[in-house]
Amino acid sequence: MVPVLRISRSQFLTNIRAVRSRIAPSELMLVMKDDAYGHGLDWAASAAASAGVEWYGSYDIRTALRIRRTTGSAARIFAWATSPQEEVVEALQADIDLGVGTAAYLDLIIDAASRLGAPARVHLKIDTGLHRNGIRPEDWPAVVKTAVAAEHAGAIRLVGVWSHLAEASDAEDDDARAVFQDAASTLRAAGADPEALHLTASAASWWRPELRGSLSRIGAFCYGIRSADGPELEGIRPIATLTAPVIDVRDDGVVIGIGALDGLPSTLAGAAVGTPVGHRELRRIDGVTSTVEPWERARPGDDVRIFGPGDHGEPSATTLAERIDTVGEEIITRLTSSVRRVIED
Ligand SMILES: *Cc1c(COP(=O)(O)O)cnc(C)c1O
Repeated sequence: MVPVLRISRSQFLTNIRAVRSRIAPSELMLVMKDDAYGHGLDWAASAAASAGVEWYGSYDIRTALRIRRTTGSAARIFAWATSPQEEVVEALQADIDLGVGTAAYLDLIIDAASRLGAPARVHLKIDTGLHRNGIRPEDWPAVVKTAVAAEHAGAIRLVGVWSHLAEASDAEDDDARAVFQDAASTLRAAGADPEALHLTASAASWWRPELRGSLSRIGAFCYGIRSADGPELEGIRPIATLTAPVIDVRDDGVVIGIGALDGLPSTLAGAAVGTPVGHRELRRIDGVTSTVEPWERARPGDDVRIFGPGDHGEPSATTLAERIDTVGEEIITRLTSSVRRVIED
């Protein structure tokens, strides 16, 4: 008897529909990093492809290649991790779009594409204030010059301009947008014609329509994970429910088969979880078991819901995360492979 993460394919598709209709005419790029935020990459990519999603965001090239195998040749797949030469060559052979945040990575891609004899599809990243990865505004004109020359030489195609927002305050995000638009103008003035402009992830795409570009890179909301300390989202529900079986019923508590070694943070003790009779307190989290406040007629084989959409009094992953000052994504992606994933319709 092991803990199970039950995942609803139909809710995933419902969320995707809600996101697409909210952000239109901006197009959805479905972000699938970290094994589709812990939900499993392959079924999710294939479900999204069947719903007509055209753009996928992978972070790394390995994941991009897996998405390519699942979705077929028509999908546009965007990998933005700065990657070694061998992986770049594989990416180009599989027609993966590459995000480029440094002059050195641009040079590496131009070199690899020239040797392969097929143009690389490049999205240049302007640093709009996050200072993680991205070309600084003062370096932008020089990188644009190199990139436009490489496009004229047939080594690359300048497909997009992108950046990532801090989402710390509206004012900062507005400033970031101004830097972003400047960068796109500079690129156009140099003779490029990028079709894809993308700046926003889930929260800004949903709440700040004026910041959306032609594409919106969205992960969390498609999986039904709302922002920590953010409001509920109309038409969006969590797609995953974590259940653990009752293995023993004692006077002082009901013992369930999930613990810290399954990836459940022991600091979540005290949270309310869902039982067959409504919510009860999760009193203690040990290594491979946990103890829940007793309820009448509890018996082995009953299921306790640790998180999910809330139909049985269970909290969402984000509500759990808020107790320990983290984000819902982390609660799900920390679950180990001892938690069985079951994909349902
Ligand atoms: C993770 C990520 C996203 C998606 O963010 P969500 O908040 O999950 O929608 C978008 N862009 C980049 C660069 C990311 O790393």
